[in-house]
Amino acid sequence: MYDFLIVGAGLFGAVFAHEASLGGKRCLVIDKRNHIGGNTYCEDVEGVTVHKYGAHIFHTDNKTVWDYVNRFADFNRYTNSPLANHNGELYNLPFNMNTFYKLWGVTTPEAAEEIIERQRAIATAPKNLEEQAISLVGTDIYEKLIKGYTEKQWGRKCSDLPAFIINRLPVRFTFDNNYFNDRYQGIPIGGYNQIIEKMLEKCDVKLGTDFFSDESRYKHIADKIVYTGMIDEYFGYCHGELEYRSLSFEPETLDVRNFQGNAVVNYTSADVPYTRIIEHKHFEFGTQDKTVVTYEYPSEWVRGNEPYYPVNDEKNMSVYSKYLDLADKEKNVIFGGRLGTYRYLDMWQVIAEALICADLVVS
Ligand code: FAD
Ligand code: UDP
Repeated sequence: MYDFLIVGAGLFGAVFAHEASLGGKRCLVIDKRNHIGGNTYCEDVEGVTVHKYGAHIFHTDNKTVWDYVNRFADFNRYTNSPLANHNGELYNLPFNMNTFYKLWGVTTPEAAEEIIERQRAIATAPKNLEEQAISLVGTDIYEKLIKGYTEKQWGRKCSDLPAFIINRLPVRFTFDNNYFNDRYQGIPIGGYNQIIEKMLEKCDVKLGTDFFSDESRYKHIADKIVYTGMIDEYFGYCHGELEYRSLSFEPETLDVRNFQGNAVVNYTSADVPYTRIIEHKHFEFGTQDKTVVTYEYPSEWVRGNEPYYPVNDEKNMSVYSKYLDLADKEKNVIFGGRLGTYRYLDMWQVIAEALICADLVVS
């Protein structure tokens, strides 16, 4: 008998399992994929560390979380500064003085603010992503750099999407291309697998194992379950399916040293089917002879696909609240992580929450 069955060997499961085993608890970690790490999993291709499930850049303002991850790997000084390609023209992201200069030729913050001020919508309290974006950066940037990208990424009109999604992106009146405002940022040298491997060192791990393949056995294999899969699936979709966005990642190895000169290039026009091209070697300032790029194509999630992003609009949040009521009644099950709590969480948040959770339940 185990103290904890942990469903999902992603970051939430791994941090929880690590803390529980440090507390002397016996943990079994299962994952339906044939590898650990969840979406942080990396593969070595031609000596390049490839983020198999999309670019994972670690960033946080939380010193405890930063110190914590640094126990498991050395982080480099990578600073994310993506480019946006709109019909062949390149713009710096996030929206900053370099973007404004390229768009309008303005060289001072005052001139940029004046243009944005003129283009801002009159709406005082933005109700959706479109209104929020226009009120933050005006119509030019909305049309060229936000609308097309967002509508293909989410498969919904900007006017039907929640405003908070766009609030992730800083808007700055300085010449600063750093995508994040956080104090700490970097890529673990050699990738994320070493972190998860160390975290799971003292646990039993079974890969290629779906909780639902033998649910009644797994429900009784431990005193408590930490479940990081989809919450609607756990309850047999009894209140209907929650909506997710899925992605397909199409990697290519190219016989060139440097394909696009930057790790992340977003394609913001609606008629390019992919949202971004990731050139992995640039995360670690690689000098290999070849390069590996991944094209990211968004799609609607259907059963059997990987659910990458929860669609946190009103309709889904109302269904989610019904699952939350059921979850409250499952006294021996803790729902954690991005899929277990149906939230768009960054890695640092998942780690912070797993640490709090372990603190509460591992006595
Ligand atoms: P996951 O990593 O999804 O792990 C859950 C695991 O549970 C999976 O391995 C899954 O196979 C397993 N599982 C599910 N159901 C079952 C079942 N029935 N039985 C057994 N196993 C099951 N965050 C950042 O901070 N920076 C970034 O740059 C960043 N980029 C991202 C890019 C993309 C494309 C995506 C999708 C996410 C990104 N994130 C980023 C978010 C980051 O991936 C998450 O915050 C974090 O990995 C979530 O960890 P988790 O353990 O909750 O979930
Ligand atoms: N976004 C955009 N244009 C871009 C990049 C992002 O409009 O070039 C919007 C889009 O709605 C996206 C959101 O900002 O979903 C958050 O972007 P982020 O890069 O944080 O997305 P993630 O890496 O989580 O996919």
